[in-house]
Formats: sequence, C-alpha cells, structure tokens
Amino acid sequence: KLVLVTGANGFIATHILQALLQGGYHVRGVVRSQSSADAVLKTFPEDSGSLSLVVVPDMTTTGAFDEAVKGVDAVLHTASPFTLSINDNETEMLIPAIKMTQGMLESVSTYGANVKRVVITSSFAAIVDLTKGLWPGHTYNETDWNPITYESAKTADAGTAYIASKALAEKAAWKFLQDRRLHFDITVLCPPMVFGPPAHPLSFSALNIAAWDINRFLSGELQDVPDTDIWGFVDVRDLAKTHIRALEVPEAGNERFLITSGRYSYQQTADVLRASSSIPDAEKKKVPLGQPGHNYPGPNVYELDNSKSIRILGVEYRSFEESILDSAVKLIELRRKA
Ligand code: NDP
Repeated sequence: KLVLVTGANGFIATHILQALLQGGYHVRGVVRSQSSADAVLKTFPEDSGSLSLVVVPDMTTTGAFDEAVKGVDAVLHTASPFTLSINDNETEMLIPAIKMTQGMLESVSTYGANVKRVVITSSFAAIVDLTKGLWPGHTYNETDWNPITYESAKTADAGTAYIASKALAEKAAWKFLQDRRLHFDITVLCPPMVFGPPAHPLSFSALNIAAWDINRFLSGELQDVPDTDIWGFVDVRDLAKTHIRALEVPEAGNERFLITSGRYSYQQTADVLRASSSIPDAEKKKVPLGQPGHNYPGPNVYELDNSKSIRILGVEYRSFEESILDSAVKLIELRRKA
C-alpha cells in the first residue's frame, strides 16, 4: 500500500515514516524543498525502495497536491505552519493551514481515486477553549471545540494564531466532508504537547517548537519554570503508531480522537529532569528549580479523556517520565554532536 505523507521532514512525520516503513508500507512524502527531500532520504538510507519524495514548493496553491495524490491508497496530512515567529497571522498561519487542508481534500476528491482514508494531524488546540483557563472540573474530550473565530485570530498573538489555525483548519475539513459526496473518509487526530526523542535532523540554531520546548530546560536559558500553557502530552512514538492505526481501523472513519497520555506540567518536567540519573550533572544544573512538587496537575486543572483513542484505536501510551527523559537524553546527545 502506498501512503502519502505531507510535511514528511517534520518531527512527528519522521516518526510516522519510520512506523510506516517498518510496517511494510510504501511512502510518498511531500516536502517544500529539495534539501528537505534529501534530508528525509538520508534519515532512511535502508528504505530507498519504499520511500520517495515529491517537492511542492507552495502547498497552499490550488491543485498543489493533484499530482502527489495520484495512485496513493491513503493520505496522512501533517503539514501545517508551526512557528511563533510570524509577522502576519493571516498569510503565514491561518490561510496556509486552512488552504492546505482544503486543498488536500480537493485534490483527493478529484485525483485520488484509490484513496480510502485521509488522516489529518489536528491538535488539542482545536479542542481547548482558551477563554475557560484551567477550567477546574471540566474533562475535555472529542466533543469539545475551540470556539475561536477567524476574525479574532487575525489580530491575536502568534501562539493564539497557531492554536486558531489548527481549529479552523480542522473545522474546514469537517465542513468539506459535510458539503461533498466523497469516495473516502477522514480521521482526525488531536494531540496536545508532543514529547519524545527527535528522529529528524535537528538544527540547534532553528529548533522546531517541540524540541525547543524541552531543550530550553537543559540549555540554561530558563531562569524559572514557565507557566504551563497546555496541560496534556503524548509521546511522538505513540502518536506515530496512532497515525498508522488511524489508517487501518475501519471504525476510525469520520471520527475525531483526543490523543493524549494524560496531564503534566512544566514543574513536573523540571522535577523529573533533576531527579533522573540519566541526565548528566552539567545539564541538570541548568534545569530551573521552580517550586519542586508544586503546580502539578490536580483538581484545579481540566482533565483529559483519552478513552475513545484506547477503545477504537488501541493506543498504548507511554508514561510522562519515559517520554520526557527519552527526549532530553536524545537532545543532549544531539547537542554534543552538533
Ligand atoms: P515540525 O515543525 O517539525 O513540522 C511541521 C511540518 O509542516 C514541516 O514539514 C514543515 O515544512 C511543514 N510546514 C509548515 N508550514 C508549512 C507551509 N506553509 N506549507 C507547507 N508545509 C509547511 O512540527 P511537528 O512535527 O511538531 O508538527 C507536525 C504537525 O503536528 C503539525 O500539523 C502540528 O500542528 C501538529 N501538532 C504538533 C504538536 C507538537 O507538540 N509538536 C502538537 C499538536 C499538533 P518545512 O520544514 O518546510 O517548514
């Protein structure tokens, strides 16, 4: 079976590629540049027979995926702007996220005759309601929707614009499904913070958000433990496997899943790093102290219900300790080699 993966050079997509290739799938990755294509091929030197890359410099144009979807059996759409350095919320975040999702579905409708399912990597950002804060007593599940509007996201800060872009892109996908008669179904995965060891080539001068988020605890750049913004996490290896399950499980069609191992906090991150024998003393000393043992997720913070993902997709979730320590150990190793 041939699976198309957009944003194939990303943190999560690299783990997805690994899982697909190990599972015997053939993969066609979509990236924006030849250098990204070369990097992906270099990451999987043993798999040149089952892995090919196509370069689509601008995935937001009409028909951008028309050629890429021809002959594929399924699509995993992971590409979406994920950065906090933007100058314009609309042109750099909202429009690309929405247009890429709509454009993919449009291309599959017209040219993806063999496609049975499109799996979209959405986010807990599409579920969380930022206006409710920590929302004590509430349990988030797949029925919750971020109510943010395009209008308010236009002028919001970059973090809010990103969160909105995920919510609005996912809404556009469900609307597409509602408005059109399709020969395929969709499955949407909504992970919160994704931790775990990076498998793609990292540039420490331009870290992707997920690596930056953990690396700053080890690099000495944090004076104090930051406030936790999003209180849920999942390990990238579990999330990658879940993408494959989402392709394979018939009952996952036209369903939305909250993909999370559970809650965590940044204070917990700091405490776990400082307590671990696998973190070298040089890095441990740089971990901000905060208030050890305090500000953990408790009754004052919303809960997360992952039961649907376990029931239908059979996800097995790693613990917070394993995920955060594996991330940190890999980041330290990569930084020493860089
Ligand atoms: P990365 O930054 O590592 O990967 C993002 C991918 O999207 C890259 O391939 C990037 O290509 C591509 N991309 C970004 N902007 C555009 C654009 N305008 N046009 C085409 N491609 C673009 O991030 P992750 O692997 O962490 O994220 C992958 C997906 O998972 C995203 O959809 C993200 O929203 C979602 N997600 C991530 C979470 C996390 O904590 N990491 C949590 C929840 C959801 P290029 O390298 O060329 O920029």
